[in-house]
Amino acid sequence: MKAIQLEADWDPKPRYRVTDAERASGKATMASEVWRHPRFVEANVPDPAPGPHEVVVQVRACGVCGSDTHCYETDADGYILFSGPVRLPVVPGHEYAGEVVAVGSHVRHLRVGDLVAAEGMLNCGVCEACRTFHPNQCPHLEMVGFSAPGAYAEYIAVEERFCWKLDAIADRLGSATAALELGALIEPISCPYNGMFVSAGGMRPGDHVAVFGCGPIGLGAVALARAAGAATVIAFDVSAERNALAVALGADEAHDPRALAAAGTSPAAEIRRITRGWGCDMLVEAAGAALRTMPEIERSFAPGGKMVYLGRTGERAPVMLDVLVTGASSIHGARGHNGGGCFPQVIRLLAHDRIHVAPMITSRRPFAEFMQALQQSCERTDGKIMIQYP
Ligand SMILES: [Zn+2]
Ligand SMILES: [Zn+2]
Repeated sequence: MKAIQLEADWDPKPRYRVTDAERASGKATMASEVWRHPRFVEANVPDPAPGPHEVVVQVRACGVCGSDTHCYETDADGYILFSGPVRLPVVPGHEYAGEVVAVGSHVRHLRVGDLVAAEGMLNCGVCEACRTFHPNQCPHLEMVGFSAPGAYAEYIAVEERFCWKLDAIADRLGSATAALELGALIEPISCPYNGMFVSAGGMRPGDHVAVFGCGPIGLGAVALARAAGAATVIAFDVSAERNALAVALGADEAHDPRALAAAGTSPAAEIRRITRGWGCDMLVEAAGAALRTMPEIERSFAPGGKMVYLGRTGERAPVMLDVLVTGASSIHGARGHNGGGCFPQVIRLLAHDRIHVAPMITSRRPFAEFMQALQQSCERTDGKIMIQYP
């Protein structure tokens, strides 16, 4: 089958200590410290066959993720920017939906023809982290599109336990194609769902919410905060296009921090103005720019406020921890979207028309134009670029 393959050179930075496990597995825990000179190439790879507990999904839609962009872009020394675990070569792509075309001998619930979206964090299911409700922290985790074969290919094999059916969405929309496209948005919406409602324990109707960074994850956070009954949703991004999308998805105001600085104000000052001095009860960092966002966020906590950190960066960021003491505030990290009822709840929100995320898809490209789509993603003006398959 046709696929896109990501290759790069294993060349650990001098200060990075490669562990024995990394050397044995070829999987770098922090890819940005190890993988250099990335190349996305068109490849022909064998068709997957389903294992006993697996289904084969014909990919019909796959969103280009900021993490894909971060595997394409490099720092000044040629290292990829993505800081998660990566084993190469790999077929990238993890925000996908498609149609089941083959089922393994032990598959119980899925049938050929079912439309599904699938979780991309392949947790083992039997370790202590998995069995104590931390599937995204499984030490044996493989990530679809980073350390396990992904969806920029005609087919992907995936265990039944990671799949969720899209029939309720297809029934509402009356269109399999439209359901599959929304299906490919479930993963990036489930990441903020996991951060805001599982890791951070949720928000209350009437809360003030701020979202830093209006890429797809931040836009998902905006839509979810609105659906959860936020009094105010305030968004910040440096892209005018993305700020307009944030307003379309439910933000009350969206501002460019650079324009605020030029006007002699700041995100923190705007948050105090809009919330009449109270601050935000929940602050979502989806920019992956902690050096610039943390100084604003630490001045924007409401008493008891929660910050959810979803962005990824290999940088250390200074934080004035004293504000957490005086404000009884908290910072919650989160990665991933598995378990915790994330996928099924997001599917319900879509099936019952409670979040209106379709405007997030600002570009569609056929699979044959994958490289152009990847280059376009570097401009960071789109919401979601969706790859469509024949
Ligand atoms: Zn992603
Ligand atoms: Zn596990």
